[in-house]
Amino acid sequence: MGAAAGVEGRAVSEKPLSGRCLCGDIRFTVEGPLRPVLVCHCGQCRRMSGHLWAATAADRDGVRFAAQDTLRWFSSSDRARRGFCARCGSSLFWSHEDKQTLSIAAGALDSPTGLKTQAHIFFSDASDYYAVHPDEPTCPGSSD
Ligand SMILES: [Zn+2]
Ligand SMILES: [Zn+2]
Repeated sequence: MGAAAGVEGRAVSEKPLSGRCLCGDIRFTVEGPLRPVLVCHCGQCRRMSGHLWAATAADRDGVRFAAQDTLRWFSSSDRARRGFCARCGSSLFWSHEDKQTLSIAAGALDSPTGLKTQAHIFFSDASDYYAVHPDEPTCPGSSD
């Protein structure tokens, strides 16, 4: 690997991942390290996404926006909020005020991501139509 060009002179081992919403009005890059993907089946994620919420997470300081005019935040609890595109409806972020990390929709990132799915959490809230891949562990709740 040569020097990473266009990364503001910072020495990074991998180039940042890029991501966007469906319509492209929100575009961003993420510098690692990134957490493995957790697939959340909690009632909130289920309803917000229409299915489940698969997310990685990174330090907030590593997330840079190239465009974010249509980014809106829905307060899903006293301390957590969910970021989405007001134009196309893509679910992109989950943010908790106690956390320095920002959760990022894994599916919004351009492939290949190099990420792996770690576990399915809050699986006790999953609806009855869904079967998880047998190689992927499930937890009824979350230790996070
Ligand atoms: Zn959009
Ligand atoms: Zn959830």
